[in-house]
Amino acid sequence: MTATDGATAIPAPEAVLGYPVGAERKIPDWPVMVDYFRQLAAATDRVEVEELGLSTDGNPLILVTISSPENLARREDLRAINARLFDPRGTKAEEDGSWIATGRSVALLLCTQHSNELGAALMTLELAHDLATRDDSATRTVLENTITLIVPCANPDGHRMIAKWYARWLDTPYEGQGMPWLYHRYVGHDNNRDWFMLTQAETRLLAALHNREHPQMVFDMHQMGRDGARFMLPPFIDPLDPNQDPVIQASFAEIGTSLAAKLVQAGKEGVATHIIFDNYSPSLSYGNYHGSVDLLSEAASCKLATTVEIPEGDLKTRSGHDPLRRSWNHPLPWKGGSWSLRDIVEYDKIAAFAFLEHAARDREGWLSRFAGLMRRTVERDEAPCAYLFPLRQDDPVALAELLETLARGAVEIHEATMPFSADGVNYDAGTRIVFLQQPAGNFAKTLLEIQHYPDLRRWPEGPPQPPYDIAGHTLPLQMGVAWVEVKKAFEAATQPLVGNGRPPGSVEGEGRYGYAISPTTNRAAAAINRLHAAGVSFAWPTGRVGPATGGDSGAAHRGG
Ligand SMILES: [Zn+2]
Repeated sequence: MTATDGATAIPAPEAVLGYPVGAERKIPDWPVMVDYFRQLAAATDRVEVEELGLSTDGNPLILVTISSPENLARREDLRAINARLFDPRGTKAEEDGSWIATGRSVALLLCTQHSNELGAALMTLELAHDLATRDDSATRTVLENTITLIVPCANPDGHRMIAKWYARWLDTPYEGQGMPWLYHRYVGHDNNRDWFMLTQAETRLLAALHNREHPQMVFDMHQMGRDGARFMLPPFIDPLDPNQDPVIQASFAEIGTSLAAKLVQAGKEGVATHIIFDNYSPSLSYGNYHGSVDLLSEAASCKLATTVEIPEGDLKTRSGHDPLRRSWNHPLPWKGGSWSLRDIVEYDKIAAFAFLEHAARDREGWLSRFAGLMRRTVERDEAPCAYLFPLRQDDPVALAELLETLARGAVEIHEATMPFSADGVNYDAGTRIVFLQQPAGNFAKTLLEIQHYPDLRRWPEGPPQPPYDIAGHTLPLQMGVAWVEVKKAFEAATQPLVGNGRPPGSVEGEGRYGYAISPTTNRAAAAINRLHAAGVSFAWPTGRVGPATGGDSGAAHRGG
């Protein structure tokens, strides 16, 4: 479509989808959504689309960036300012002011990690169109002050599975039922429990995006069950991870309640803050350990794209929250009725735009709090000061993998070039060192220290209050790696670890009778799996494996 002056007209989502966003019983497939964003980017200089990489099953994982054309033209400068604020080592706090004055706040909308929670992904089509076409003062403020980063769908593979599944059972008694298998090839729903191990293609691409852009704010938009509140926002309930900066923890309440107020102001019922969801685990959020305030929202679900009818009497109390009761954190209860995909899109869009407005109206405030908390992070001077990893390990590959995981999370790793001592103990050259005085120090610390989950009770002397899910995440314990926490500052000659530090593997002998694989490394299991898939048979020895005894050693052997 072309406008009279020859410029491409800006397409509305409906023109590409063939129906309005959030229309009843309609789920656009992922390629259609990607096509829409590409058409939008081609038609306006406010929008850019970037393919971050491919998902596990080879679908494009995209980023949509929206800002004023002036800001987009100086992206590299703005990135450099953000990177400088993220890593203030070697600079003085007095210098921050000029960077803050010329920088732009960066706000990331991370939508639909869980593929059956469709509302946020669909909402982004309409939000992007609004930002591309509107010229009201609120939109202009957002465009001029903020770089808006939108990940419309963090799991495109799952989105495609759900779209196909929904279409398959449409107009049958099973319409809108959940898919009986998981919407990701490897991790299903637990793609948002991967922010500490970063094992999946999608989480790795999104962590790399975060490490490149350093957003001050992240909004992770989800859906929950259908018979409670309509919409949940922070503040989170206790416990919070003590490794999140106090300013980040205080900000949850500031922004969460601000967004909730906007929703209530728009007449949206059933908006609750400070219910059900804690924020104890880095498996759930990456930003909170990298200088961002990482918010969560949970909209009530319908049945995929099928509207549900929920009588008021069917609403249920969950984890202490009664959706029928009016209270400070839930001032306008929902009275039951119909609940549709369009309802979810509307709640999500109001919340997402309020989030961007917050980022824009308080641009300098956001950059300033980011600068302050990053400076506090790199200048921390309390114990522990570092973690050490001796090279002598039962499983040296696991050590390398642990350090690779930290490095993906922007943690700097050093190796000692000379022997040294710390806390009165001598260590060899080559020892790996993670100093906590670094921008990703809070991420490193939460993954390397031993958690002491607080003893929370349902009531005084009552039974324990169970955690939302994860109560510990110490990587060395999970991976079988020996490590040492260092209390006191120490001197050591070090250099940044070059390469991944993986010890080379080797094969000895000719394999005349077979091969023995040491079970001491976790990677042996991967090797056995691959051999098994290739049709090689193997056995578990019941006695000693060695060359001296002769005969059948019981070691792994080649199959026919
Ligand atoms: Zn979810």
